Amino acid sequence: MAERKPKLLIVDDEPTTRDLLTQVFTRRGHDVLSAKDGFAALEQIKAESPDVILSDLNMPGMSGFELLSVVRRRIPGIYVIATSGAFAGDGVPNGIAADAYYAKATGLTYLFDLMQNASLPNPASRNRSSSATPIWISPTDRDASLKAQVLISCSDCLRAFSLSVEAADFVIHETLCVYCGTQIHYATVQPMNPASPLQFSSQERARAEQ
Ligand SMILES: [Zn+2]
Repeated sequence: MAERKPKLLIVDDEPTTRDLLTQVFTRRGHDVLSAKDGFAALEQIKAESPDVILSDLNMPGMSGFELLSVVRRRIPGIYVIATSGAFAGDGVPNGIAADAYYAKATGLTYLFDLMQNASLPNPASRNRSSSATPIWISPTDRDASLKAQVLISCSDCLRAFSLSVEAADFVIHETLCVYCGTQIHYATVQPMNPASPLQFSSQERARAEQ
């Protein structure tokens, strides 16, 4: 009898990427679930928990940065692979709550290796210091002084409070929950740039519409 392959949840806002990866891993014998952003992924996880999450980082709605820090806190048993076209290399980028990292468009062989590793009873690459894992937030309105008002959700008491932050991206800050005093690390990341490398720039779009 064949061994059971891990159940996989693919999170990506690009339908073509989602469909391609779903096909590839279904063919390799995995049960595959998919979601188009962080919110949809959390709904999916509530309904049916996966063994492994493969999540894009830059998505509209709830980004992968935010999704993965929620998953790490609430369901630490899930093996998490972050993926993006924005960071090169095979190390997990600083502050991202993932067990492994896959740079998009670098061939599927490495991704298969990562999935193989995720199937082991105690995956070797678990290098987790959850206290230092920041909550990722996307400030929507930042003013000229780079101050932004953000909503921070405490992972301990689950209450949210708003905070005026220095919105310098990828810098990890520290604050205390105003309700329960728990130490919270957070970092900001720009909401998805509509002209990301996988999509058409506004110039290209304008040209196409002529
Ligand atoms: Zn709290």
